[in-house]
Amino acid sequence: MTASAAASETSTVTNHRCVNALTVDVEDWFHANALAQAAPRDRWAGLDSRVVTNTRRLLELFGQRGVTGTFFVLGWVADREPALIREIADAGHEIACHGYSHKLVFNQTPQEFREETQRAKTLIEQITGRAVEGYRASTYSITKRSLWALDILCELGFAYDSSIFPIHHDQYGIPDAQPEPHQLTAPGGAHIVEFPLGFARFGGMRLPVSGGGYFRLLPYWLTRAGLRQINRKRQRPFAFYLHPWEIDPGQPRMKVSALSTFRHYTNLNDCQNRLKRLMADFSFAPMRKVLADLALLPATAPANPQA
Ligand SMILES: [Zn+2]
Repeated sequence: MTASAAASETSTVTNHRCVNALTVDVEDWFHANALAQAAPRDRWAGLDSRVVTNTRRLLELFGQRGVTGTFFVLGWVADREPALIREIADAGHEIACHGYSHKLVFNQTPQEFREETQRAKTLIEQITGRAVEGYRASTYSITKRSLWALDILCELGFAYDSSIFPIHHDQYGIPDAQPEPHQLTAPGGAHIVEFPLGFARFGGMRLPVSGGGYFRLLPYWLTRAGLRQINRKRQRPFAFYLHPWEIDPGQPRMKVSALSTFRHYTNLNDCQNRLKRLMADFSFAPMRKVLADLALLPATAPANPQA
């Protein structure tokens, strides 16, 4: 290697930005767990659906910056809006699975979980003509009491999961879970790749800085500092997540508890601006690509099992 080639390689390495996983959980505003009391599932079909408009707006924002990511699609949405799912795939994004019904995994029996997850995976694969490799549980509901779900995900042909949040929370989280992407052995012995949601450490505290409500509630400078800490100090990629309804300040307002109101409605009007800043400050790719770059998944995606 010549000196100038060596110098240019060094500078490439120095300038290299960590590539992170950008993810969207494709569901409507009324699917959010915080609104479960006010918008029970038997009313969903009659509520004002805004998922198509909001997802298209996200596609536009990502398109403007040439960013691609992974869209974890709820089967309930895929059933009603198959054209939207094709639109997302045609824009170059990875399509993954967010279950069918948005029921919390730890409130399902293993049999129920197997059936509804299989239903959603098959449906999405039929729509896109591509294999679905990734799964994310409703409200990060794979916790210590529902780790059995990981064995079922392997059985159904998923290659990776992104449902474990290594924090303390009243509804989810495995505080002592391994924080970086890794291969995990499920309780039944199955192997699956896990991409946990990110957190930063500030003064001994774990602060979830990786998206959703935290992205809207925390000041942007703090989110950015936390995500930079993951990339620079821990030297690993993070998984960032958002829902289409989080960029929609015009969505119907439901009467729910003060805590749920705070979690669901804070800073909806500022979320698009924050997302633009985030895309300028960090590099992103679909989750499958980030995992393949870490050698946790093969470089090429498998063929569609429905073909
Ligand atoms: Zn969800």
